[in-house]
Amino acid sequence: MFDALAERLEDAWKKLRGQDKISETNIKEALKEVRRALLEADVNLQVVKTFISEVEKQALGAEVISGVRPDQQFVKIVYDELVNVMGESNAPLAQADTPPTVILMAGLQGTGKTTATAKLALYLRKEKRSCLMVATDIYRPAAIDQLITLGQQIDVPVFELGKDVNPVEIAKQGVAKAREMGVDTVIIDTAGRLQIDPEMMAELAQIKATVQPHDTLLVVDAMTGQEAATLTRTFHEEIGITGAIVTKMDGDSRGGAALSVRCISGQPIKFIGVGEKVEALQPFYPDRMASRILNMGDVVTLVEKAQEEIDLSDAMAMQEKILEARFDFNDFLKQMRLLKNMGSLAGVMKLIPGMNKISGDVLQKGETQLKQTEAMINSMTKEERGNPDLLAKSPSRRRRIAQGSGHSEAEVSKLIADFTRMRAMMKQMGMGGGMPGMPGMPG
Ligand code: GDP
Repeated sequence: MFDALAERLEDAWKKLRGQDKISETNIKEALKEVRRALLEADVNLQVVKTFISEVEKQALGAEVISGVRPDQQFVKIVYDELVNVMGESNAPLAQADTPPTVILMAGLQGTGKTTATAKLALYLRKEKRSCLMVATDIYRPAAIDQLITLGQQIDVPVFELGKDVNPVEIAKQGVAKAREMGVDTVIIDTAGRLQIDPEMMAELAQIKATVQPHDTLLVVDAMTGQEAATLTRTFHEEIGITGAIVTKMDGDSRGGAALSVRCISGQPIKFIGVGEKVEALQPFYPDRMASRILNMGDVVTLVEKAQEEIDLSDAMAMQEKILEARFDFNDFLKQMRLLKNMGSLAGVMKLIPGMNKISGDVLQKGETQLKQTEAMINSMTKEERGNPDLLAKSPSRRRRIAQGSGHSEAEVSKLIADFTRMRAMMKQMGMGGGMPGMPGMPG
């Protein structure tokens, strides 16, 4: 699965190869290829439209990252959006505070609902969650027997009342039985029809209202492609689902269903079925699926690494530290190095309005002071850097640092006093970015 999609997307990357950056013109062609690739993979048209417009927005707003080619960057943007569309992280099954957790299975006939019921029971059993399966499909010949056989195979009990009792009643009694048995989870298999059918929907709605499930999972057959989107919408509107299991992901279908479900319903895919055997069930991870779809894991990693260098979250963490006055010499050193990476202090100062009038020798003095400050911080132990108060209290520590860095004790004391004052001031001002009165800077 997804081989065709990955191959098609190749054409999209090609459109950007050899370009020096992503632009409004060259992105058009690339987006057209992505669009075609998704449509061919049977992704719902509405989903494709949303996807493309989001990717376009991200691509045009993307900063050039050094060491990353535009086509590589585009792969990463498409990857991120795939993950985003599929739900970012794995969505676990519901678990009730007081057992039993009730899981309702819904879906059309032949999608793999009964098989998925057993797969899920086995999965939970492996997680040390005991199960009871409830057979309410009184319409399809042999549906009850099928569940009983599967139950024997995986050693999970099945509750049934034959074919002559109303499914709503069977579900209700099944949950009561689960409570009586003290099992952790009860999974209710329901009847499906070949098509969406008002009677089936009404019955399902009634079962849902009666048993109040913690999870209502729609079982979607990956082979149904476009139809999966319509199905998801209808079930979600009429019954209200909390998640989906996409079955037959092992087959030669084109995989579009996996991309459509969450976008259409807002509910996550929780598991995928990857074979006929009861063991063939896997929790769904959007990032792994996106990697599989693109078949470009190495490029994604490359871009991620490059992006880390300019990671904003670092700045956010720093700001939080400042606000809580947890800002220490380690952070200080990091900021200083960042400043150095930007070029000479003189160069940086020129960019700041009002600062460009500072004379050359003042700046020169500033550079020297920064170097000296760095030398003193480098002579501190890890513990001291993390806890500047230790230094304020201990003359012997300050003496050691002075000796180690080739500075006077007075200089070390001044650095610590300046630092402490700066930290208090930064906290007061709630400043995030700048460093007012940074010790070692001309001020
Ligand atoms: P139900 O009518 O929705 O309960 O469907 P069943 O559980 O009876 O499954 C219908 C058919 O699909 C059976 O032949 C299953 O073995 C098959 N099936 C179910 N899940 C999967 C899957 O993940 N992969 C494959 N290849 N076949 C599956």
